[in-house]
Amino acid sequence: MTVFHVKQCRNMETVDVIVIGAGHAGCEAAAAAARLGAKTLLLTHRLETVGEMSCNPAIGGLAKGQLVREIDALDGLMGRVIDQAGIQFRMLNRSKGPAVQGPRAQADRKLYRAAMRRALEDTPSLEVRAATVEGLLTVEEGHRVCGVELADGRVIGAGAVVLTTGTFLRGLVHIGEVTYAAGRMGDPPSLGLSAALQRLGFTLGRLKTGTPCRLDGRSIDWAALDSQKGDDPPTPFSYLTERITTPQIACGVTATTPASHALIRDNLHRAPMYSGQIGSVGPRYCPSIEDKVVRFAERDRHQIFLEPEGLDDHTVYPNGISTSLPEDVQRALLQTIPGLERAVMLRPGYAIEYDFIDPRELLPTLETRRAPGLFLAGQINGTTGYEEAGAQGLMAGLNAALTAGGGGAFTLDRADAYIGVLIDDLITRGTSEPYRMFTSRAEYRLILRADNADQRLTGKGLALGCVGEERRRAYSAKAEALAAGRVLMNDLAATPTVLRDKGFNVNLDGVRRSAFALLRYPDISWEQIAALWPDLQGLRRDVAEQLEIEGRYAGYLDRQAGDIAAFRRDEALLLPEDLDYAEIGSLSTEVRLKLETARPATLGAASRIPGVTPAAITALLAHVKRAQRAGAA
Ligand code: FAD
Repeated sequence: MTVFHVKQCRNMETVDVIVIGAGHAGCEAAAAAARLGAKTLLLTHRLETVGEMSCNPAIGGLAKGQLVREIDALDGLMGRVIDQAGIQFRMLNRSKGPAVQGPRAQADRKLYRAAMRRALEDTPSLEVRAATVEGLLTVEEGHRVCGVELADGRVIGAGAVVLTTGTFLRGLVHIGEVTYAAGRMGDPPSLGLSAALQRLGFTLGRLKTGTPCRLDGRSIDWAALDSQKGDDPPTPFSYLTERITTPQIACGVTATTPASHALIRDNLHRAPMYSGQIGSVGPRYCPSIEDKVVRFAERDRHQIFLEPEGLDDHTVYPNGISTSLPEDVQRALLQTIPGLERAVMLRPGYAIEYDFIDPRELLPTLETRRAPGLFLAGQINGTTGYEEAGAQGLMAGLNAALTAGGGGAFTLDRADAYIGVLIDDLITRGTSEPYRMFTSRAEYRLILRADNADQRLTGKGLALGCVGEERRRAYSAKAEALAAGRVLMNDLAATPTVLRDKGFNVNLDGVRRSAFALLRYPDISWEQIAALWPDLQGLRRDVAEQLEIEGRYAGYLDRQAGDIAAFRRDEALLLPEDLDYAEIGSLSTEVRLKLETARPATLGAASRIPGVTPAAITALLAHVKRAQRAGAA
C-alpha cells in the first residue's frame, strides 16, 4: 500500500470518484456517481468484460426483480439494460399476491454487455478505462483512502474510492482435484488489493460459489424435451421502457435421473466440497447438484432449465446443475440426463473461493469505518447475485460522490426499499454465507412491491439530483395519472341496489360503495368494475394495476403503514458513532461485543442484531437518553 503525500497531488491525475471493477456493482456505482456530477473513473481489468454475467444469463426473480425496479427508479442502469438484452421475460408468482411477484428475464449475454457499455459511455462525467488496480493510496495521517495504485505503478488520486471486485480477491477455481488462481474462468485473480485491505486492518473471510458447465445447443435433443416460453407480451423492467423489441425465445426443460444421482454419490469423494479441498461456505439457496443429491437424498430428480445464452450463440446454460465435480464426471453426468445424452460440453462447471469483508465494517452509506473514503459494494460484502451487487453499487456510488463533493449521505431504510433491507441486514447482522435477497427478508413487502418502486423512490432520487429529465417527466406523468385515478376511484360510487342489478354480490345494506371499496371484495374483479364505470377503461394499464392493488389490499396496507410508523420511531433514535458500550454496565460481554462490532446507527438497527436482547435495548435506550439529557444540560 502506498502512503500518499498531499504534496504529490499537484502532478497526479485526480478525479472525484474512482470505481474499481466494472461488474454489476461497479457499473451502477460509476454511473450513479457520475449522475450526481462527480468526475468519475471506472477502472476494470478488460473493457470486453464490462457488465459480464459470471454465472447465469438472467436478471431479476423473486425479490431480486424488486431490487432491479428500485435501481431503475433511482435512474440506475440494470433495468434499461436488461430490457434491451432480454430474450425471455416472465413475471414469477403471477398467480400469487403482488407482494411476492417478481419480474425475471433471461439475457443475451453479448447484448447485455454491449448495452451496459453503451449506457456507461453515454453517461457524462464518466470515463471507463482498462487497468488493473494493485493498491490503495492513503493520506499519511491515518487510514483515509485517497486514490489507487495501478499495476504499472501509476497512481491516481480521488475524493472517494469504490471497491467492487466481486469474486476476484484471491480467487481460487476448483474443478474436481484441479485448482488454479483466477477471478473467474478466463480472468486473473486480484491479489494486490487483498494485501492492501489487510494492511488497512480489514479481516478477510472466504466464501465460495459455483456455476454449471456450458453446453453446445446443437448437440441437445430439443425435440425430446418440454419447452418453457416467456410471457406474451413481455413486461419490461424499466419504468422508461414502453415495450420489448428484442426477439423472444423459449428454453428447454429436463431433469436429473436416479442414474445421475448414483453417479454423483459414487464420485462425492472427488467433489472439492466433500473431499475437504474447499473449506468455505457456499450459497445455501443456490446449491450445487452434488449438494442437492446429498441434502435431498429422498428425491430422484432435480429440474434443469436449458437456457440459451444468446440469439446468435449456440451456448446453453443448464440451470440447476452447478457443480465442481471433476470434468470426466461432469461429462458422464450429462449422459444420464434426458435430451443431453449426446450433449457436447463447451466448458466445465467450477466452484470459486474468494475473499470477502465482514459487512459489519460498513456504515449505512457503504463507506468503511476503518478507512474513510473507501466504499465497498457487491460480492466483496458477502452477497451473491447481480441484483444485490447492482443495488449496493448504486448506493455506494451515490454516497462516494457525496463524500467527494464535501459531505452528505443518501440512505434508504427497511420501509423504503429492498435496497434498505439488504444494506441493513448486511451491516447489522453480517453474513457467514453468500447473502441473497428473498421477499421473506422484508417486513413491509406489501408496500415494497415491484409495481410501485418508482412511486417509492424516484421522488427521493429527484430530490438528491441523481434522476435525469426523461425519468422526471415519466415519473410526474404517472404520479399525476395515479392521483387523478385515486380521485376517480373514490368518486365513482353506486348503491347496493344498482350494484346488485349489475350482478355484484353485495349486501343490500343501503351503503353506497366506491370503486375502491368494491375492490376489497375478493370475488369482484377489476374488469367487472371497469365495465360498470367506463371512465376506468381509459386509465393507463400500469396505473390501473397499481390502483387495483391499492384498493384490494387497502386494509393490509393501512396496517403496514402503522407498523412502519412504529419502526421509524425507533429508527429516529440515533446512536452516536463513538458510543462507549463499556459504559453501559448492564450489558453482557457477548451483547457488548456484538454492538461494538456492528456499531448500529440507530436503536432500531441495534434491536435487529441477533442476540441483542430486549433488556439490552432498554438499557441502551436509557443510557442514550441520559447522555442526551446531560448534553442538553
Ligand atoms: P463481478 O461481477 O465479479 O465484477 C468484478 C469486476 O471487478 C470485474 O469486472 C473484474 O474484472 C473487476 N476487477 C477485479 N479486480 C480488479 C482489479 N484489481 N483491478 C481492476 N478491475 C478488477 N450469483 C448468483 O446469484 N447465483 C449463482 O449461482 C452464482 N454463481 C456464480 C458462480 C461463479 C463461478 C461466479 C464467478 C459467480 C457466481 N455468481 C452467482 C455471482 C455473481 O457473478 C456475482 O454476484 C456478481 O457478478 C457480483 O457482482 P460484482 O459487481 O460484485 O462483481
